[in-house]
Amino acid sequence: MRMKSLVQDAEETRLAIDMIGLGARMQMLESETGLSRERLLKLYKEIRGESPPKGMLPFSTDWFMPWQQNIHASLYMSLRRFVVEHANLQGLGATLQAFRMYREQVANNGLDQVMSLTRAWTLVRFFEARMLQQTGCTRCGGHFVTHAFDPEHHYVCGLCNVPARAGKGKRAMREAGEALA
Ligand SMILES: [Zn+2]
Repeated sequence: MRMKSLVQDAEETRLAIDMIGLGARMQMLESETGLSRERLLKLYKEIRGESPPKGMLPFSTDWFMPWQQNIHASLYMSLRRFVVEHANLQGLGATLQAFRMYREQVANNGLDQVMSLTRAWTLVRFFEARMLQQTGCTRCGGHFVTHAFDPEHHYVCGLCNVPARAGKGKRAMREAGEALA
């Protein structure tokens, strides 16, 4: 039996409720709280009214590289950096706050929400493991998610070099991307 204070238990429950409300999946909940799987499943069902999706998110940095996903990931990381620098938050607190801002920003720009909270959390872990980095675009000066150790000298971002198939989402993405500069 685990010895844990009531205060800590209450704090972790509050955090789990917060994360479930933002759409966290089980792997994130289990990793970020000390609560039992049974307890988390119960909370999840109570809050979302259904069981959590089964299976893990694929754990690969490549998910963040296709055009649209890269812009959203870059937007998220810029917001997170802002939160760390200006809101005096770190770790999970910064990840959650940046995600709230990201949701607001894509909604304001009429964009689809491409990043889920669990994706955002995974992205931050890739940064912490130094598998991904932010690279400055040589044309617009914005900061974008790239693989670590990719050459930086001639990097041009997805907003400056938009694929033709991007179509009508392009302008909205560009507006959202202004936050990256
Ligand atoms: Zn650019």
